[in-house]
Amino acid sequence: MKVSIKNLTKKYGEKVALKDVNLEIPEGNFIVILGPSGSGKTTLLRILAGLLYPTEGELFFGENNITQKPANKRNVAMVFQNYPLFPHMTVYENLKFPLESQKEGQIFKRRIYSDEEIQIKVDKTLKTLQIEEHRDKYPSQLSGGEQQRVAIGRELIRDPVIFLFDEPLSNIDARLRYEMRTWIRKLHELLNRTMIYVTHDQSEAMALGDTIVLLNQGKIVQKATPEELYYNPKERFVAEFIGNYPMNFLSFQNIDNTIALNADPKIKLPKQIEKIIVTNDLKEGDIGFRAEFIREFDPDRPVEKNMVILKCLIEDVEKVLEQQILTLNYHDEKLVFVTKTMKEFERKTSIQIIIYAESIYVFDRTGERVN
Ligand code: ADP
Ligand code: MG
Repeated sequence: MKVSIKNLTKKYGEKVALKDVNLEIPEGNFIVILGPSGSGKTTLLRILAGLLYPTEGELFFGENNITQKPANKRNVAMVFQNYPLFPHMTVYENLKFPLESQKEGQIFKRRIYSDEEIQIKVDKTLKTLQIEEHRDKYPSQLSGGEQQRVAIGRELIRDPVIFLFDEPLSNIDARLRYEMRTWIRKLHELLNRTMIYVTHDQSEAMALGDTIVLLNQGKIVQKATPEELYYNPKERFVAEFIGNYPMNFLSFQNIDNTIALNADPKIKLPKQIEKIIVTNDLKEGDIGFRAEFIREFDPDRPVEKNMVILKCLIEDVEKVLEQQILTLNYHDEKLVFVTKTMKEFERKTSIQIIIYAESIYVFDRTGERVN
């Protein structure tokens, strides 16, 4: 089912949880909504599920305006981080339950299933979820990941048109999370249903999503592929939030078209960066550069026009397998430098680093990117 969210605003009293959100999710897509805690992710999912109503705006499933439709008429599945399974029922009985309760609901003229149909559906769900071997176990006999699969199965068996996942893997061991992510992707390929997956974990979002919608303070900041978010952030917030290391920043000032870094006014930025600052008429702002794109300067090599060379003090060195993560002090500004060189760096020694003009991002005072 295609989902369209139009000019959606949600207020809790004075608190604006979502602000003028517009989003189209094509039929059968898998999209990830990423944002820090409090950015409005759960509020958005609850509105889609019909558990909350928007303050302003409209929702469409396909061409149908469902803004005022109650939850039980939407046929939406919602999966949370905890697994609300009945402890006294086996996996089989847990899966059967939603169908049984529909059967009992016949006085409300809801769809009913025969015992045989129920059995076929449960067996099919067990197979789809690859949990046939756990059929007769109780939830307490299953791992977190297995319990979550059963919980997803309990939604799946109702044949929903849209799946909403609200941080479904937060309670699962880090080691198993990778496996569960792959499993959810496979489930999507198999079912081809629209799935909306919410997480606050950027590495999870980057691994899962073809399309990531980044939320901050109730607003969509950027909707893009993982690569686009990483290489082409629209705002400083994106650059800080995405990536294994937040982007490094140094502030600058522009006085009568003479540009100086606040940390060390003697340092000249490459001409092409100065030109961006001048043509955009920025009086002040930040340059940003990623830890992975810094290089160590070799004094035997010539200085080139597109380089900025900064002399820093190494404050800390962390080794993670083949990588070294250096925390640098540059005139009391903290910079992070990640390198795979064989050379061993030592704390409290100095280092000269190169930042290439091509890897510099320019941000204005409001955090908008200008280059
Ligand atoms: P997320 O899921 O991204 O962490 P939420 O959607 O839960 O964010 O919350 C968004 C904002 O709305 C937060 O600032 C939160 O404190 C606020 N909020 C959420 N639910 C309520 C509520 N029932 N009453 C008042 N404020 C709420
Ligand atoms: Mg939440």
